[in-house]
Amino acid sequence: MSRITPRIIGQSLTLRFQSLSLALSPALPLSLSLALVFFLALTGLNLASLAAARPALAADRLVCASYPVWLFTRYLNEGRDLFRVELLTNPETGCPHEFAPTPKDLERLTQTKVLVKNGLDLEPYLDRALKVAPPDVEVIDASQGVPTLAAGWGRIDFDGTMVQDSAGQSPAMRPNPHIFLSPKLSLTMMANIAAALSRLDPSGADHYASRLADWELETKSVIEDINRFRDTHRGYKLVTSHGFMDYLAQDMGLAVIADISPLGTEAAPSGQRLSRLAQLIGREKVAAILVDPETNPGVARVFSKDYKIPAAILDTATSGTFDPPIDFYVQVIRENIDLLNRLLPANVQPTPEPPKPVPVPNNPQPVQPPEFD
Ligand SMILES: [Zn+2]
Repeated sequence: MSRITPRIIGQSLTLRFQSLSLALSPALPLSLSLALVFFLALTGLNLASLAAARPALAADRLVCASYPVWLFTRYLNEGRDLFRVELLTNPETGCPHEFAPTPKDLERLTQTKVLVKNGLDLEPYLDRALKVAPPDVEVIDASQGVPTLAAGWGRIDFDGTMVQDSAGQSPAMRPNPHIFLSPKLSLTMMANIAAALSRLDPSGADHYASRLADWELETKSVIEDINRFRDTHRGYKLVTSHGFMDYLAQDMGLAVIADISPLGTEAAPSGQRLSRLAQLIGREKVAAILVDPETNPGVARVFSKDYKIPAAILDTATSGTFDPPIDFYVQVIRENIDLLNRLLPANVQPTPEPPKPVPVPNNPQPVQPPEFD
């Protein structure tokens, strides 16, 4: 199975949805676990020897550190073949918070001149893995200038106060990295990548500008759909998993008030946490539970049944194949919006805008995307 189609996993009696059966492994694939073992076995000494054995650079190799930025870079590069755009992770990795590269992946890094990353610590494995890359490797950070939300922003704690994130830090200390799921923010990410590619390949600058314009056109209608959804659905409260849809929810006027498991905690939630979540869901009148494909859907199903609210899996655009359609990203976002339109009825009475998010500092030099309304 290459990707998980967005789907409803728990029925709402009000909406009379039919529950779909689901075969989903909550655990990481075995290959990833093995890769983690391999990676941890690579001590500093071994990393150094890999770096020392670095072969001549392949000037055209461009490696992407996660699936969404690989989709973006591939889109910009289509029709221009100076760079060979490669994905470092397995395309079925999902969110790469726990990804560990294999020795073969690391070997590829020794031969790359350009690396594109999402940034904001979505790819924590890069801290160590980049030690084997050439010292002059160009790292393109697609998150530059993106207005970020604090990890855990908007969460309502069980006692009614703001929660802290899983590391015990103040949420304001750490930005949520899931910017790629917002088509609006993808415009800035794409502009960043296109600007960097144009700098590295000046004779291709017109090409990258033209592909960026194509992307703006391609995402325009989906952004309009999101704006329409916000006008008719704003104010619903959600429970999600690990903050994956905070930026998309913000675009859609939805409020994420709790996570089944917070960002940074992959273990199953404790019984005490589940019991407190249950109280919160009842007290706050949560409208739906939306989880990412790597989260065990069992908890969402149980809450859905107990509280008679819908539950669904959304596609995070972090998994697919090595050969998806060029408009794969837009397809994923559109499917998510379609599902949310089916899941949440339009508000009969308009509800007020949710409170404005508190942005956290990212980068002082933003790249301005075009305006869409
Ligand atoms: Zn994630």
